[in-house]
Amino acid sequence: MPFVHLKNSHPPIRVGKIVCVGRNYAEHVREMKAEIPTFPVLFLKPATAIIGDGDSVVLPPISNDLHHEVEMTVLIGTEGRDISRQEALSHVAGYGIGLDMTLRDVQDQAKKKGLPWTVAKGFDTSAPLSEFVPASTIADLHSLEVHLRVNDELRQQGKTRDFIFPVDELISTISQFFTLEAGDIIFTGTPHGVSRVVPGDRLKAELRTSDGSLLTSLAVGIR
Ligand code: MG
Repeated sequence: MPFVHLKNSHPPIRVGKIVCVGRNYAEHVREMKAEIPTFPVLFLKPATAIIGDGDSVVLPPISNDLHHEVEMTVLIGTEGRDISRQEALSHVAGYGIGLDMTLRDVQDQAKKKGLPWTVAKGFDTSAPLSEFVPASTIADLHSLEVHLRVNDELRQQGKTRDFIFPVDELISTISQFFTLEAGDIIFTGTPHGVSRVVPGDRLKAELRTSDGSLLTSLAVGIR
């Protein structure tokens, strides 16, 4: 269902496109044995990939290596193109937590052959998203933390201050190529610790402030 929710706001917001950033934490770049980028790696997921809190990721039969990537997400509230870094954050409606679910074996095959990642990254149910919290309620965007637990075990933890490309720069860069519209979503990249999940696993993702307060969360299963 290509809809998301912004806390204290009705009705649901229809999502246009999902722009994802690869390689935005140095530690994750190292674990993927890739090079630190000087320009953001961008790819798209279709809005039909979205699922919500309490739903399940369905592993397609083509893959035997489904990975979790927990990421802070950005909900665009105001349309723009060629947005400056100074203006960038005024285009944001809210922030949330999401999972960039990835068929790692399918992606690795595509990388080897120089082919696109579309199936590996954009299959149905590959974009679990939490409810978004209004941007106006976030005091410091650079002191947030993302957490992911699988079956109650902590697997990933990252701090937004460790981003290679901060949110204002991402919005500015992305909007040079893709007009950003209200309802578009940006996945900001995952910290290190990506790993395999299998049917039956339970994933719990959280966006927290640095003092530990929970902003929003997302729980999904794997089928
Ligand atoms: Mg990712």
